[in-house]
Amino acid sequence: PADAVDDPFASLNPAQRAAVEHDIGAAPADVRPLLVIAGAGSGKTNTLAHRVARLIMSGADPQRILLLTFSRRAANEMTQRAGNVLQRIMGLRGGQAPALPWAGTFHSIGARLLREYAGRIGLDESFTIHDRGDSEDLMGMVRHEIGLTQTQKRFPLKGTCLAIYSRAVNSRDPLALVLQSTFPWCSEWEAELKTLFGAYVDAKQEQNVLDYDDLLLFWAEMAADPELGAHIGSLFDHVLVDEYQDTNRLQAAILMGMKPGGEGVMVVGDDAQSIYSFRGATVRNILDFPKQFAREAHIVTLERNYRSTQPILDASNAVIGAALERHAKTLWTDKVSTVLPQLVLIPDEAEQARWVCNRILEHRETGMALKAQAVLFRAASHSAALELELMRRNIPFVKFGGLKFLEASHIKDVLAVLRFAQNPSGRVAGFRVLQLVPGIGAATATRLLDAVAEAAEPLRAVEQFAAPARSGGDWQQFVDLFRALRSPGLRWPADIALATNWYLPHLERLHDDAQVRAADVEQLARLASGHGSRETFLAEITLDPPEATSDRAGPPLLDEDYLILSTIHSSKGQEWKSVHVLNVVDGCIPSDMSTGNSDDIEEERRLLYVAMTRAREHLHLVVPNRFFIKQQAQMGDRHVYAARSRFISPAMLKHFEESVWMTADTAQSRKPMPDSVRMLVRERARNAWK
Ligand code: ATP
Ligand code: MG
Repeated sequence: PADAVDDPFASLNPAQRAAVEHDIGAAPADVRPLLVIAGAGSGKTNTLAHRVARLIMSGADPQRILLLTFSRRAANEMTQRAGNVLQRIMGLRGGQAPALPWAGTFHSIGARLLREYAGRIGLDESFTIHDRGDSEDLMGMVRHEIGLTQTQKRFPLKGTCLAIYSRAVNSRDPLALVLQSTFPWCSEWEAELKTLFGAYVDAKQEQNVLDYDDLLLFWAEMAADPELGAHIGSLFDHVLVDEYQDTNRLQAAILMGMKPGGEGVMVVGDDAQSIYSFRGATVRNILDFPKQFAREAHIVTLERNYRSTQPILDASNAVIGAALERHAKTLWTDKVSTVLPQLVLIPDEAEQARWVCNRILEHRETGMALKAQAVLFRAASHSAALELELMRRNIPFVKFGGLKFLEASHIKDVLAVLRFAQNPSGRVAGFRVLQLVPGIGAATATRLLDAVAEAAEPLRAVEQFAAPARSGGDWQQFVDLFRALRSPGLRWPADIALATNWYLPHLERLHDDAQVRAADVEQLARLASGHGSRETFLAEITLDPPEATSDRAGPPLLDEDYLILSTIHSSKGQEWKSVHVLNVVDGCIPSDMSTGNSDDIEEERRLLYVAMTRAREHLHLVVPNRFFIKQQAQMGDRHVYAARSRFISPAMLKHFEESVWMTADTAQSRKPMPDSVRMLVRERARNAWK
């Protein structure tokens, strides 16, 4: 650095600096493992980004830095932050900030490594990847094939079967234990589930498909192989992981396999923010980290919070302070403020929506952009009333963590066309595509897929297949499409044009709202053209699907101002000037589904803590008095009288400004919906179940 003013590290506090400077200058093999364990907003992610920059500055090769985050968005942000630091240093010398080719999620990096090395562990490198939906479908197919559906009526649903399987794989626990601890009502089916999972694994292998869990599982397999593990480990001098509290046993095993001595491994996290145990993540990873490797880890803790005002911190600390078990941490900040977090009691969800809209507009009037504000909720469905109100008032928003683009049936159709062309052995994609052809039903599709599986050349099998006469010309068109998609001369993204041209007429036949769906298909085509090949496009869209849905076709323009709606889970690691948390009531946080054991309850407490610690200046917790919940099928949906979340005990009320809101506070909110909004609302309702 030329001088102190331009020193991008000058802003770091001593503890952050210690983490950034840890073993800098040592040979990569001599860099000891490093753990940064610290509370929310203490600059963990910031420190990680600075360390990446510091490493590169001191000569580390950016191509040999592996940066693991929990979403692509987080990876991009981190790369950007590290890039900014480097720019400031190297900008002085007229240099360019280097890219980090190995920044991504565990799953996407796993997919890349497998594409390269799958052959070494006996897999075929041309595998396709199943998303959760595909995996459930395959589980359903296998279940049907081995006859569990007909004979055993009470057998768990395919989604539950997949959840059990996934949990067992990710936790590395025996099935019996997983059943006993997490799915006790399925314990009686242990033997059948074993058979089912065996058949499911066989089916994946026969069809050359991998599911999400396989990406970690086989990476861990590769890492555990002494020779291959060492080789993969040797590709990287530094391995850095953010949000380590939400990793599972397999992910820890991957790190240990690649770097048994822990050299160059740095992880950061906060045990108080662990919120993914329902997916097999375990906070033990972060607690065990110091002694896991051949060399003991160096530990850095950060105590100064740079994000939130003192009153927000006090309230958040009170909530998490009541936790049964945690690594005690105290956070402090010098951001004084007289604005207390608000706890607002409101009659019902409709009033909640109006009240939140009013506050958002008030904030905007004081100059706070919509983008600096977020509304967080426990479950994606909880924002429905608010979304209507936002549309009614023309407040643009983007929603994260809700219904995924990929889950819409028409998007699945188009992707299945590409997947089937890529890997004709994949029966889930094949089954879906073939039945789009008029006159072809499940039985015919199965026969064709059997023929493809037995044939040496899939195209020949398709061409020679005796399709039912009633599918005539439609069948011929499909054969032409398949031939074109399999032709060696095809250059991406021509594939996507072929697939959509073939699909659009079917779309019109299948759906009355074909026009709206066609717009989605076009958006998919635009997205596809940004990728280098069919293979990478399919892998990336499956691993990191666009997660935002917005109130119009296509994502909002980058420079446009819009509000963020997000599930609490998807808000991890982020921050906003103002945060609203909806439905802070028992039955919601903690959720109804988790009122069973105390571990679940504790996870819900951490969830509220995560939500509260996203706020920088304004925090509003809203407590609707009447709350709409979906009860078990036999009781129907109904309103219940709700109570303030148990996580805010009477003793904690002193940290909040309490207010009670009885009626709608503006005439604005009573305005009838304009037609355009009504159309949108109907549209959404129609899409909601897809
Ligand atoms: P979380 O636990 O929520 O992931 P975190 O510990 O990763 O939080 P960051 O997101 O890195 O925290 O930082 C929180 C905020 O504090 C950011 O706005 C960041 O820019 C700011 N910050 C971090 N360190 C410093 C510092 N030394 N000086 C000024 N601001 C800082
Ligand atoms: Mg962070």
